Amino acid sequence: MASVKPLSAPQKALHKLGLDSPLALALHLPFRYEDDTQLSSLRTAQQGEPIQFEAEVLSHEVVYRPKRQLKVEVLSDGLTCTLRFFNFYPSQLKQFQVGVQLRLKGEIRGGMFGLSMMHPVVQIAGAPLPQTLTPIYASSAGLAQSYIRKAVLSGVKKATELGLFEPSIPASLEPEDLWPLKEALQFLHMPEQGTKLHTLEDQTHPAWRRLKAEELLAQQLSQMKARLVRSQVKAPALKIKAKESKKKTSRPLVESLREQLPFQLTNAQTRVLQEIASDLVLSTPMHRLLQGDVGSGKTVVAALAAAQCIDAGWQCALMAPTEILAHQHFEKLSLWLEPLLGVQGLKVAWLTGSQKKKDKTQALIDIEQGQAALVIGTHAIIQEQVKFKHLGLAIIDEQHRFGVEQRLTLRKKSKPTNEQSGERFEQTAVQVDSSKEALEPHLLMMSATPIPRTLAMSYFADLDVSTLDELPPGRTPVVTKLFAEHKRQELIERVKYQILQGFQVYWVCPLIEESETMDLSNATQTHMELAQALEGLGEHGAEGQGLSKDVHVGLLHSKMHEQDKKAVMQAFKEGKIQVLVSTTVIEVGVDVPNASLMVIEHAERFGLSQLHQLRGRVGRGSAASTCVLLYALGEHGRLSETASQRLKAMLQTQDGFEIAKRDLEIRGPGEFLGARQSGASLLRYADPLLDVDLMQWAQSLAPTMWSTYPQMALAHLARWQTMRSEYLKA
Ligand code: ADP
Ligand code: MG
Repeated sequence: MASVKPLSAPQKALHKLGLDSPLALALHLPFRYEDDTQLSSLRTAQQGEPIQFEAEVLSHEVVYRPKRQLKVEVLSDGLTCTLRFFNFYPSQLKQFQVGVQLRLKGEIRGGMFGLSMMHPVVQIAGAPLPQTLTPIYASSAGLAQSYIRKAVLSGVKKATELGLFEPSIPASLEPEDLWPLKEALQFLHMPEQGTKLHTLEDQTHPAWRRLKAEELLAQQLSQMKARLVRSQVKAPALKIKAKESKKKTSRPLVESLREQLPFQLTNAQTRVLQEIASDLVLSTPMHRLLQGDVGSGKTVVAALAAAQCIDAGWQCALMAPTEILAHQHFEKLSLWLEPLLGVQGLKVAWLTGSQKKKDKTQALIDIEQGQAALVIGTHAIIQEQVKFKHLGLAIIDEQHRFGVEQRLTLRKKSKPTNEQSGERFEQTAVQVDSSKEALEPHLLMMSATPIPRTLAMSYFADLDVSTLDELPPGRTPVVTKLFAEHKRQELIERVKYQILQGFQVYWVCPLIEESETMDLSNATQTHMELAQALEGLGEHGAEGQGLSKDVHVGLLHSKMHEQDKKAVMQAFKEGKIQVLVSTTVIEVGVDVPNASLMVIEHAERFGLSQLHQLRGRVGRGSAASTCVLLYALGEHGRLSETASQRLKAMLQTQDGFEIAKRDLEIRGPGEFLGARQSGASLLRYADPLLDVDLMQWAQSLAPTMWSTYPQMALAHLARWQTMRSEYLKA
């Protein structure tokens, strides 16, 4: 029996980094370089710059003050320099025999006591100097640079021999300044002496541009493929059926619902509804992102889209990321739709993980048999046991909270008998066998984090975007204030004042990801503190304007049972609780118009979009509302640079689009969208915000590639298969 040789430690480390194929190794590019090709003189060395020089050892000693260290005195070019090592082995002392010539590399510091260098890299002098810049790779513990360097170079060699770097783009269609891929990779792993470091580091070198161009083209090709595939998938055309009956109750839901809304739709709402409605009547699946700032009124748009779907005789599902939010939708939409559905023998079903078995069983039956015209719930909706009779439209609220897989699962739920259409297309490039009936529901995703257009185009495979760029009338802007932690007492007085005015208050405590317990103690502690501070406020009141009832402070956090969460939220909605202390579980979607003050504790720890979302919980009624950002200074008595940028942005603007733009600038696209959203590392090399010219080139070339050079297009995609095509479709 052939035994498999166990992997060595560095091999395991490579594997962990995903570097197990020649291609993966070859594409693992250095993140910086060092220039060891020259020796320079101590005389011309600049403070703080790295320098490599040779010198003679004059003396060495171990001293114990101010700290144990090895001090080596060296002489070069008539200057002395002190080398200091704080971590050293006794055996290292041998290296520094008096009179020995050494080659040293490090950063020079000057000072009162002459030149010095901490922890330089030490070699014996006189070895030939390297001819190329030294690449430094992203690595991990136990993986030496020298090992990874060797592995990468052999990866490049093998991949080249395998023909993996043959051109896959017709030469005449390329931008002019690109290097051939093979040369580009060889160069980037071993740049010649004299190459300007900055062109490598800011990735403007023509070798870098080749990689970016290839990557962007691959992305465009797979997006186009996804779009072609979708254009051949069938979806139910959701046309409103003409009703035979003349009864009033059988008018289309869309009409009745519109009429009974307590407000007029905004122009923006009417426009996006039109965009959605005209997609829904087509027999190709809609794939649309509805983005609109917090409070722009996405829910009613969702409700009217659902109504169109139900009018056409199909089921609609609405999925929200938290049970609180889902339940709020359920309440609102049931209120609007149940009376209208009831007369047709239809209902709104509720589905979550926490519900009672009996209720769940009933819901599952209603869904499978089709009485549940609208299904509202959490992730529970995409579980396997949920079988729709005929799902026509799937709506995902706060879609950025869901992973790509979850969206895909929902799309495959149209009918239980459905083939998994996504996978079938994998092998067949762009031709689709449409003889089998495979229906997919229309998909409407909603988000309050607007994504700039260029970014949306490069991150989402295949998506149309509708934008609500207008808030409903009658909103008073939220006043945002910064409070330092030591003004907490003053803040509590404000809380009291709001309550006495009959308003309600949110007090949000941060979620500290590393420490759930700390997170809870934070919220519970604040809860106790506020409960104490507000005790008796109800009876005594200030200046005789007291409340007739007691003041209640509620607590809400993610570790509570769903039932308890719901009860607390309900009490807050009904005004039985005046102050709600909570972790970020209320971040998305919650709508309590009587809340007029939002306090965000440790605001410096929150992300910008998150702060904006939280602030969006107030200012929903007609009363003047305030958002207080309570911040604490860090260890050094300062806020971090990014924290103060975020807080400043919150003070300067309330425009969700502007906030998104700033957030993107602060965090960069990868983090902004979150790994789940962007499908891990969709783009490794290119930056859709910077490489606009290459992006445009790739966009215009992709159609030609598919139509005229399909073989090359497939080869190109295969090379860049590191980008997962499933993700690109979602
Ligand atoms: P979001 O876009 O953040 O999901 P919601 O759908 O929760 O916003 O709407 C916020 C509030 O605005 C709700 O109370 C909703 O009833 C109300 N609303 C929505 N559309 C309008 C409108 N056209 N006129 C007045 N109020 C509206
Ligand atoms: Mg919402």
